Amino acid sequence: METASQQVADEVRCECGKITGERCAWVGHEDETAMVEWTPPSIRRSIQDARAAGNLGGLGAPLARRDDVSLLRLERSCAETAVADEPEWTRIVEST
Ligand SMILES: [Zn+2]
Repeated sequence: METASQQVADEVRCECGKITGERCAWVGHEDETAMVEWTPPSIRRSIQDARAAGNLGGLGAPLARRDDVSLLRLERSCAETAVADEPEWTRIVEST
């Protein structure tokens, strides 16, 4: 009946620190989190260059490949803040 082993296993940590550079202290249940697709700054320039080249060459603007984006688990309000800050590079992925 007791599910003592659950209380540790279900706790997840918010990963918004990878976006903001500030470590997030939030730890909680997976249900309160959202998965976020985030394009790291290190590859944004190459994407922008590709878009520019695509425009010049008449090719379709390349999109970020799935491999390029980071999938992070964020607490929901952190996720919404991240998307509001950088809507072009951040997207909430509804997993359920
Ligand atoms: Zn956070």
